[in-house]
Amino acid sequence: MLIGIPKEIKNNEFRIGMTPAGVRELVSHGHTVMVQRDGGTAIGLQNEQYEAAGALLIDTPEEIFDRAEMIIKVKEPQPDECRMLRPGQLLFTYLHLAPDPEQTRLLVESDCIAIAYETVTDAQGGLPLLAPMSEVAGRMAIQAGAHALEKAQGGMGVLLGGVPGVAPAKVTVIGGGVVGINAARMAMGLGADVTILDRSLPRLKLLDEQYGPRLKTLYSSVESVEHEVIAADLVIGAVLIPGAAAPKLVTREMLKQMKNGSVLVDVAIDQGGCFETSHATTHQAPTYEVEGIIHYCVANMPGGVARTSTFALTNATLPFAVALADKGYKQALLDDPHLRNGLNVHRGNITCQAVASDLGYDY
Ligand code: NAD
Repeated sequence: MLIGIPKEIKNNEFRIGMTPAGVRELVSHGHTVMVQRDGGTAIGLQNEQYEAAGALLIDTPEEIFDRAEMIIKVKEPQPDECRMLRPGQLLFTYLHLAPDPEQTRLLVESDCIAIAYETVTDAQGGLPLLAPMSEVAGRMAIQAGAHALEKAQGGMGVLLGGVPGVAPAKVTVIGGGVVGINAARMAMGLGADVTILDRSLPRLKLLDEQYGPRLKTLYSSVESVEHEVIAADLVIGAVLIPGAAAPKLVTREMLKQMKNGSVLVDVAIDQGGCFETSHATTHQAPTYEVEGIIHYCVANMPGGVARTSTFALTNATLPFAVALADKGYKQALLDDPHLRNGLNVHRGNITCQAVASDLGYDY
């Protein structure tokens, strides 16, 4: 199959759809891979590395979209990219169509076949192509929170791990899913005093078995959230109710009882945020203050570590990309119901029920 990997054009997006190692894998299966020149240079993935992996370097996105049978990207296609898609062309990338009627219309009009990373499933009921970005965001949440706790960043001037003779900081993680576990691991690794709250008892049991007494687990209730938030130096918001806006678990009233200069990191901001006082921020201006509490609410955290995120994403997408290229999309989707769940748009029709019902399309 002739595969195309264009340079991302969304503002401040430095990831690329595939690493050189991913390209080499596809080439070793007999496929031809076109990569846009300088597509990865911003994150140290050089043209020469792609060439050595067997890629054809192409100067313009127009040529890639014009020739490729399958386009592999990271972010949803921007309007100019949607207009370059051809009838019957396969697009494999993050789409997030439900809140994006314009992109949805353009994809329907393009007559392409679009498979969305975020709705591909696995046998455990997880979302394997979303998980790597949650892992990145969870780990990064502690790094961002630790930085914000520094005095010069507006924080109270506390070191997460403490030092001999000085107690470590108290970190409260609300939500023990992929983000929460990764945040807790990082915080424990830095020597913080970590408590994680979840509403799922099986999840708390798993965490307890995995980490033992180093990690305190608590059932999440109004009472326990309030208690742990008020006592914390750093709070990580990591809850998710699939398909719904994040519940507002931390209120402005609780903030008033927290220590001045404490930090809240709301990873769930992409679902509206789980703190009453959260609003989305960017990597350029990541924090703001409310009631003396520093808020970090970057909606696209993995973009800040674009190199690590590109490697993590390729690890997850590559087996699916290989299957699509080896078998053609029809056979690959027939063989794998989990990949089939990724199909969002097929030749003018919306094929994801949630997207169709949210945006008023026939399903
Ligand atoms: P997940 O489904 O793996 O975990 C969510 C957890 O929240 C579950 O264990 C669930 O039981 C728990 N939960 C639900 N309601 C709760 C409550 N009231 N109290 C405590 N726990 C509760 O999801 P995830 O992959 O960890 O993602 C978490 C959030 O982070 C999502 O909103 C996701 O979109 C977001 N995210 C944001 C970024 C970013 O850049 N900001 C990046 C990746 C993920």
